[in-house]
Amino acid sequence: MDDTWATRDLPVLDAVVRLLEGKPEVSMADIAAKTGLELDAVGRALMALEGPYVSNISKSWGFPPSGWRVSAVTPDARRAIGQWPTPESIVDQLADGGAADWLLDLLRQALGPGIPAPTEIAVSSWGSDPWSGGAYSHIRPGGSAADADLLGTPVAGRLCFAGEHTQSARLVYTDGAFCSGIREAKRLLRSPSVRLQFSPAAHPSPNALEKDP
Ligand SMILES: Cc1cc2nc3c(=O)[nH]c(=O)nc-3n(C[C@H](O)[C@H](O)[C@H](O)COP(=O)(O)OP(=O)(O)OC[C@H]3O[C@@H](n4cnc5c(N)ncnc54)[C@H](O)[C@@H]3O)c2cc1C
Repeated sequence: MDDTWATRDLPVLDAVVRLLEGKPEVSMADIAAKTGLELDAVGRALMALEGPYVSNISKSWGFPPSGWRVSAVTPDARRAIGQWPTPESIVDQLADGGAADWLLDLLRQALGPGIPAPTEIAVSSWGSDPWSGGAYSHIRPGGSAADADLLGTPVAGRLCFAGEHTQSARLVYTDGAFCSGIREAKRLLRSPSVRLQFSPAAHPSPNALEKDP
């Protein structure tokens, strides 16, 4: 990947998107302060980003462009820096009843007006649930799946890491997490294979828990 994207354009894009969350427009000085880049570099980045990522730059004459102001970015800009509102984050922002109405409206738009209202609704919130604290991993632009493999590399040969995010073969999936656990078990046991054994006593089913509180 072109280094300019990672070292100049992406940091500028990231700064613009985040700064625009709090104000209607951002100045070159704002972007330079947030990125630590010179005005000249910020100006070149904005010219590269204009169109696909930055949709409204009011320009003044001269370069470096100290008087330029940016007031809008495209949906692709938010996607590129991982800030695109997901259906889940939208639901998180809605009150319980609002989430049901919003989803029902989407379903009716997609499938027709005959979709009946649900008799019951439960709204979960992975983003704000303190026990999950988010969802699965996400490789941002500029990164690569190999970064996940790097996270699975032991430190000093003794501190081992398992989890969905530590392997690239099945990134984001449960079986990726599962296989990473087997990988680390083999590493710790110094064995080419391990035997998996399910112990019902150690993992009682929910029904068993109900019977035996
Ligand atoms: C909404 C959603 C839908 C999904 N759907 C699918 C699907 O259909 N198919 C699929 O294969 N995968 C799916 N996944 C992904 C799958 O759930 C994950 O890939 C998998 O759970 C990752 O397992 P893990 O063991 O790496 O991490 P986790 O399951 O996240 O486990 C990490 C554990 O560590 C605990 N923890 C965190 N910090 C600490 C700490 N400091 N001290 C002690 N404990 C801590 C957490 O509470 C958690 O229990 C989905 C995920 C989400 C969020």
